[in-house]
Amino acid sequence: MRITLLPGDGIGPEVCREAVRIFHALNSFYNCKFEIIEKPVGGAAIRVAGSPLPENTLEACLQSEAVFLGAVGAPEFDHLDRGQKPEAGLLRLRAELRGFANLRPAACFPALADCSPLRRSRAEGADVLILRELLGGLYFSEPRGFGENQEYACNTMRYSVEEIERIAHVGFQQARMRRKKVTSVDKANVLETSQLWRRVVTSVSRFYPDVKLEHMYVDACAMHLVTNPSRFDVILTENLFGDILSDEAAAITGSLGMLGSATIGGGINLYEPVHGSAPDIAGKGIANPLGAIASVAMLLRHSAQMPHEANDLEDAIENVLDAGHRTADIAGEHPQHVTSTREMGELVECAFVDRLDRRFAYHAV
Ligand code: NAD
Repeated sequence: MRITLLPGDGIGPEVCREAVRIFHALNSFYNCKFEIIEKPVGGAAIRVAGSPLPENTLEACLQSEAVFLGAVGAPEFDHLDRGQKPEAGLLRLRAELRGFANLRPAACFPALADCSPLRRSRAEGADVLILRELLGGLYFSEPRGFGENQEYACNTMRYSVEEIERIAHVGFQQARMRRKKVTSVDKANVLETSQLWRRVVTSVSRFYPDVKLEHMYVDACAMHLVTNPSRFDVILTENLFGDILSDEAAAITGSLGMLGSATIGGGINLYEPVHGSAPDIAGKGIANPLGAIASVAMLLRHSAQMPHEANDLEDAIENVLDAGHRTADIAGEHPQHVTSTREMGELVECAFVDRLDRRFAYHAV
């Protein structure tokens, strides 16, 4: 399986280094091979090729079976126009890969419940998958822009039946692999696009009678996410609502550094930790690599058809946290053992290999 690796800027290369360990571990266990091809993106690409997404990088991505990205963004390029900044490379890449379904799981590990801004009893047990429609809605629909003399501005929210159907199918399929509940989030009391959304999601739900569907207004959802997050399984929603709710859900887990993501549906899936390039801690060796490693688990599940190994990797992350190991961002007030980025990567690799060993021993018996 060919994977294009785009470490990018800031802590991107640091966390990618730890994620790549997992592919190497799998290569040494299985007769399969993950071939990793590294290319520059973002500020790193501007420095070597003058563009945040050089043609050579895009070509490699389009010829691979999955793309794995660290993060982009560096203060030295802040003065550039929007279209030339490192972030423009990522936006163009997402558009070229055409993934319409953005999956952001946010689970609060019991060992980290004290790092959450919510009280332990609320944070514990939270395990939600935010599924955000990524190519439609307010961010892309026309007409948009400023009026004469910039005295007004307008954006349009448009959704077609087809756009809603395809993301709804992903939502129900994801729920089938989880706790079989979809909460479809809209603003159908005010918006026609939401009324269409609700109608289409309801009609798609008939293909999935084993999955429970509920509808919820976005304002109510924002409230329930902080008062009772464990009531949610899959939250299915459109682009703008998903953007906001996924950050809210991320906060519950205790640190941005914990979260992975996948963007699927366009043929070549894109995997990346949710966080940015974190220039404030770049180069210090203290970044949390668990979001990047969690993104590897998502790749194993969604692109490599290795669900057991994906589970093993997620269990390995949890084991390491249960044993008290913490990077600085999740150390809380009484850190037992604060690890560097590299130590955390090594610990997870070790726990993962241990699980693969046991899987092999079981099959050998
Ligand atoms: P950020 O996610 O980089 O950092 C926010 C805060 O979280 C910082 O204090 C940072 O130290 C901390 N943090 C983030 N990831 C961490 C990790 N793995 N371990 C420990 N702490 C972590 O967001 P920002 O500061 O708003 O943006 C910095 C740059 O990143 C900007 O240039 C922005 O455009 C870019 N950005 C890129 C992406 C992406 O590549 N997908 C996403 C968001 C922001």
